[in-house]
Amino acid sequence: MWQASVFTLYPDMFPGPLGQSMSGTALSKNLWSLEAIDIRDHGLGRHRAVDDTPAGGGPGMVLRADVLANSLDSRLTPDDPRPRLLLSPRGKPLTQALARQWADGPGVILVCGRFEGVDERVIEGRALEEISIGDYILSGGEIAALTLLDACVRLLPGVMGKQESGEDESFEGGLLEYPHYTRPRGWEGRPIPEILLSGDHAKIAAWRRAQSEALTKARRPDLLRERN
Ligand code: SAH
Repeated sequence: MWQASVFTLYPDMFPGPLGQSMSGTALSKNLWSLEAIDIRDHGLGRHRAVDDTPAGGGPGMVLRADVLANSLDSRLTPDDPRPRLLLSPRGKPLTQALARQWADGPGVILVCGRFEGVDERVIEGRALEEISIGDYILSGGEIAALTLLDACVRLLPGVMGKQESGEDESFEGGLLEYPHYTRPRGWEGRPIPEILLSGDHAKIAAWRRAQSEALTKARRPDLLRERN
């Protein structure tokens, strides 16, 4: 079974939205598992402190290296084959290719930062790989972790209704997806493109391909450059 372990100060945020719909059904069918580990269990003193002021001064607080390392060490064995990922705006951008790579593996270990972030030494000392979900700042890693998990879980065998509906999507071939239509045939004076009603599957495939290329060229020329 594909296993996700999430280290967080807010374990009640899990499974959250992943307990619903496709991922929720898959969770109850044991197609994957999720454990949320409360970092605060290893907090210090009567108040179970997990953070402290930044060395060198400045605003905010920093998650302590010793507290986070103790939490990780209490739950992980050295031979755990899963990638150890720290959600971080400084990280490698999350992509469909990475989601596929992790979905094909045994699962993931996710560490959610809070405050100004985590002490740099625990990133080095526990070999955490930093992953970003985009160029903006969230208030914590939890929503980023849920995003990463959603992207992986829907790719696990048996999770998606129709297996092939994972293969055609935006980014899978390095292109954005073509437009979709369904009934009614006419809506507010807008017909469905004639070719989609023609029954000519080769022509439909060619049309979709052309639409994908045009959309990608207009909206995400960076993706086309990456493919070449
Ligand atoms: N001071 C940091 C931001 C801290 S935000 C900086 O400027 O880089 C607090 C936590 O939210 C981070 O430790 C991280 O775990 C999470 N987070 C914020 N934005 C994120 C993003 N774009 N991707 C992934 N995690 C993010």
